[in-house]
Amino acid sequence: MRFEILTIFPEMFRGFFEHGVVSRAQKNGLVGIGVRDLREFTHDRHRTVDDRPFGGGEGMVLKAEPLAEGLAALGVVPVADRDDATRLRETVVLLSAQGRPFTQTVARELAGLDRVVLICGRYEGVDERVNEMYCDRELSIGDYVLSGGELAAAVVLDAVMRLVPGVLGNEASSEFESFGAGDAAITSSVDVEGVPRSQHGAGGLLDYPHYTRPAEFRGVAVPEVLMGGDHAAVRKWRREQQLRKTLRNRPDLLAQAQLSAEDRKVLERLRVELVDEI
Ligand code: SAM
Repeated sequence: MRFEILTIFPEMFRGFFEHGVVSRAQKNGLVGIGVRDLREFTHDRHRTVDDRPFGGGEGMVLKAEPLAEGLAALGVVPVADRDDATRLRETVVLLSAQGRPFTQTVARELAGLDRVVLICGRYEGVDERVNEMYCDRELSIGDYVLSGGELAAAVVLDAVMRLVPGVLGNEASSEFESFGAGDAAITSSVDVEGVPRSQHGAGGLLDYPHYTRPAEFRGVAVPEVLMGGDHAAVRKWRREQQLRKTLRNRPDLLAQAQLSAEDRKVLERLRVELVDEI
């Protein structure tokens, strides 16, 4: 899989791409990343990439020509001229606070493509004709405004890349975490005794809390159930913790989550218990 990034600040990505999973994925040949400087595609002495907005107002706007040339250098044609095979294999994304929310579901969809082109806006944004002509998606990483699309591109790249098969050592680790398909992929999320099948299966819920050694840290002990070696009890406790975290921090996710009858009972109890917090 290949990512291409168009930006006026290519250096911003260097440190990020040289560490951890992103670096390993490139070394293993699973993921390729290209970063292109928009100024390469300018023709004036000052290498101008921005101009004043038509209609007046604050700030500057990224010009269409350098972006269109940068996209052409990557072999990207306007959406209207793209053939079906290309549409199925690649996407051209404008990072934008006005975009559709970037979620784990979108990340999973992008991880199935061969190429993701990411356009980083700056200033007041990008000339809208670039969006209309070349981008098949406009994505926002959250309801806040960043000063540029570079951090957003790095977020999208990281979240997508780790879902590419082989990138994470343990394939299950992306499936069974917050927002993962997890137990949702299993017909019934509980076994005959009503114990969740998966230790971690997120099934649309947030992940459970994790602990490591020492067993006691500054007087605070690890929950006892995790020390006892009773795997069914651990699974049950973890599922309750997932429900608790999701109810407390992201109750909106519960409507879509894969919930068993037992989960629903636990939630009823938690709603009473956490009444002052939710
Ligand atoms: N005028 C724009 C608005 O109000 O929506 C904000 C422009 S912002 C200062 C500059 C660039 O940062 C945008 O063009 C976009 O590429 C990026 N950006 C800002 N917030 C973002 C977000 N939440 N998600 C993705 N990209 C974002």
